[in-house]
Amino acid sequence: MISPSQKAAFLQALRDELGEAGLLSSGDLSAFERDWRGRYAGRALAVARPSATEQVARVLQLCSLYGVSLVPQGGNTGLVGGSSPDESGQQLLLNLGRMNRIRHIDGANHTLTAEAGCILQNVQAAAAAQQRLFPLSLAAEGSCTIGGNLATNAGGTQVLRYGNARELCLGLEVVTAQGEIWDGLSGLRKDNTGYDLRDLFIGSEGTLGVITAATLKLYPQARAHMTALAACPTLDEAVRLLSLAQQVAGPALTGFEVMNAFSLGLVRQHFPQLQQALAPSPWTVLLELSDAESEPHARQVLESLLERALEQGLIDDAAVAESQAQSQGLWHLRESIPLAQAQEGLNIKHDIALPISAIPAFVAQTDAALMQAVPGVRLVNFGHLGDGNLHYNVQAPLGLDPKQFLAQHEQPINRIVYDAVDAFGGSFSAEHGIGRLKREELAQRKHPVALHMMRAIKKALDPQGLMNPGRLL
Ligand SMILES: Cc1cc2nc3c(=O)[nH]c(=O)nc-3n(C[C@H](O)[C@H](O)[C@H](O)COP(=O)(O)OP(=O)(O)OC[C@H]3O[C@@H](n4cnc5c(N)ncnc54)[C@H](O)[C@@H]3O)c2cc1C
Repeated sequence: MISPSQKAAFLQALRDELGEAGLLSSGDLSAFERDWRGRYAGRALAVARPSATEQVARVLQLCSLYGVSLVPQGGNTGLVGGSSPDESGQQLLLNLGRMNRIRHIDGANHTLTAEAGCILQNVQAAAAAQQRLFPLSLAAEGSCTIGGNLATNAGGTQVLRYGNARELCLGLEVVTAQGEIWDGLSGLRKDNTGYDLRDLFIGSEGTLGVITAATLKLYPQARAHMTALAACPTLDEAVRLLSLAQQVAGPALTGFEVMNAFSLGLVRQHFPQLQQALAPSPWTVLLELSDAESEPHARQVLESLLERALEQGLIDDAAVAESQAQSQGLWHLRESIPLAQAQEGLNIKHDIALPISAIPAFVAQTDAALMQAVPGVRLVNFGHLGDGNLHYNVQAPLGLDPKQFLAQHEQPINRIVYDAVDAFGGSFSAEHGIGRLKREELAQRKHPVALHMMRAIKKALDPQGLMNPGRLL
């Protein structure tokens, strides 16, 4: 624990380095200290807001010198409690929001180099301005940052076609726990020169070093997009629809999302102004095609897919967006589910991955087990079916206080869900990471040899244990 005199000296050294605009040490810091879900509200020693990589390096050198631990923070939209400080008042929050420059776009190499604090939406826009596509896309894209996306290896809605954040990154610039700068901003697609350090930092959730910039892959823009909603009688049919869509549309299929009736019901209840294009059905699929040829071609592929799906009994009904505004409206429905859920009250979240073929059986079996364990629980089930990733969340029975529900039932419910995930060969964290929320699960469920290697890496790169302690490991 840092003494009051050391704290004063540490803060003064930070102020000298970062200037007044770069250090917040008094006043209301709660916007930085609370996580997005409102589950974790901590207290920071101060908030450092560097505007250049050299400043980040200096901050980490000072942390190492004074033995102060730090929590890197991007847009603070993470869902596992990784980006907010603990309650001790001893952790420095390192917010990267002022490092928000696009450094370089190399059109011929199809790459863009951005600083870590760039908002994802701004990176997409910078690519679009050069007639290129940066395909990472998620509902938090107006607030989350490239640094946070890479630190969590974010997924989102186009993984099916383009992969996770990891697959979209060619190079990184990182400041190590000791305050050294590693310039690994290569735009190379082939580089077999030993251990892949880039991949080590991607998904490390701020526990190994601070990502300060990244070189990202760009793609050609599609000529046309077509979006549709389809009503499926069962989840089995939704899975079969996915296979059919992959067969008919091939790589043009860029999104395949699924939503159960209760999740869309929550959207209807909390956002009645949003138009729901289809009548309620047990499962609704949101499909997106991104076509390299033309809009008529995309429409023809989509219509032929939906006709075949109707003939085969995979869907009962479908609605095709006729304009960009309608397409955005359909996506808005899907993206409003987490917000509707948050309005309904605290819930138990499970971001899980499963073999796609196992999903219907997993859901049938686990739904039944949960209903039996806590009669009346409400299951918010939606997600990226095309990636085998479900957000399988459990809302309190009507009339039960959500806080009381969590306190009483979170652990047993987690056990039911994660044991089933294990039994079906899945993962208890698909795209949100571990943070504080799933640390115990990691310790219990990760292979012991893998855990041993992870701890050895952590010790080698962060021997003082100052980087985001208490998260992940
Ligand atoms: C409405 C909503 C929808 C979402 N949808 C998705 C989705 O579809 N797919 C998905 O994967 N996630 C989703 N998320 C989760 C979240 O948006 C992502 O995890 C995102 O990548 C986090 O970025 P961020 O900048 O907000 O990071 P933060 O929340 O600030 O940080 C996340 C973690 O990364 C670390 N970190 C942040 N920046 C750095 C850095 N520069 N260097 C080192 N470590 C760093 C933090 O310490 C923390 O551990 C969603 C969240 C919300 C609120």
